[in-house]
Amino acid sequence: MRKPWENFSAIDRFFDPLLQQTVNRWVLLLPTVNLCYWYLKCGGCSMCGFNCPKSSKQQYAWIAKYFGGRALHPLYWIGYFGIRSQNPQNLTIYNGGSFLNSGREISGSKPEIPYSLQTAICRHVGQHPTIQKLFVESRPEFITRSNIGSLTDLLQGKVLQVGIGLESKNNKVRNSILRKGINLGQFENAVSVLKEYKAKSLAYVFFKPMELSEEEAIDDAVHTIQYCFEAGVDEVSLSCAFIQDGTKMADQYRKGAYQLPRLWSIIEVIKKTAPLGPVRIGTFEDDPPPIAIPRNCPQCTETVMQAIGQYRRTFNLSLFNQLHCPCEETWLKEISAQ
Ligand code: SF4
Ligand SMILES: [Zn+2]
Repeated sequence: MRKPWENFSAIDRFFDPLLQQTVNRWVLLLPTVNLCYWYLKCGGCSMCGFNCPKSSKQQYAWIAKYFGGRALHPLYWIGYFGIRSQNPQNLTIYNGGSFLNSGREISGSKPEIPYSLQTAICRHVGQHPTIQKLFVESRPEFITRSNIGSLTDLLQGKVLQVGIGLESKNNKVRNSILRKGINLGQFENAVSVLKEYKAKSLAYVFFKPMELSEEEAIDDAVHTIQYCFEAGVDEVSLSCAFIQDGTKMADQYRKGAYQLPRLWSIIEVIKKTAPLGPVRIGTFEDDPPPIAIPRNCPQCTETVMQAIGQYRRTFNLSLFNQLHCPCEETWLKEISAQ
């Protein structure tokens, strides 16, 4: 029978390109005191389903609502005691928003993760015998000298890595189509603050935004990844589009106005950018579960998916050289005609 903490706390095997090894990763889905700052401010990003009523984030919202931010502390510890015997080397926290938003960084913003919990987690990781790295996500406006300075101190030399959703270098794609509300100056500043405190950065690059053809989306992702490494980012994660209910993308997909990327296109982006730095392929699973994910033809989808899965665990590019299917020719013709 599934244990109660297994809904939000689990261990998986994960290839860390910065450490060049596969490690035990503790993945913690941490509920927040309030929904994402950007969602509350203006309705959120166009592809994001984290704040929709079906997301577990909304299902667990009552915990913080009724018991306040302190209730999140026991949840963290329950999650930890569930997995502690498996000696994790990496703690990855997903909270569907900004871990670093404690409500103090931007006046008027409602906190997502209380500062007391941010510091308790960093103190715990700093003293933990096996965890070497803490990964969290944040919008760039919450990455400040003050919080990164304090949190890295508590981590006592363990690595802090912050994932930032830049999504696209192109202003129109990023701010009009995806509605991110982030400018490049904010992003570059956040990357340099992290560097100043010897913390690592990871940029999420979104593939393929609405309104872009398959070929335009490939170009956009390749240029964005290039830009990220030039800006000093340590690692990139390619977030391939999938459809989650309750998003603008889901509306467009149902109307037939949007098509998900082919797996060939994802491989193309990886082949073109892997020499620039570590580029991982994000999983096609999330919360709430997607109603559609990228595919090829029925004949090769499973094999290509397996190769992508292996790439995630090894970063071995040669895995893609053995893949062939007649649908690759059709895909090539389609993107050359666009
Ligand atoms: S993508 Fe991130 S910033 Fe945008 S609405 Fe979702 S959680 Fe908030
Ligand atoms: Zn095929």
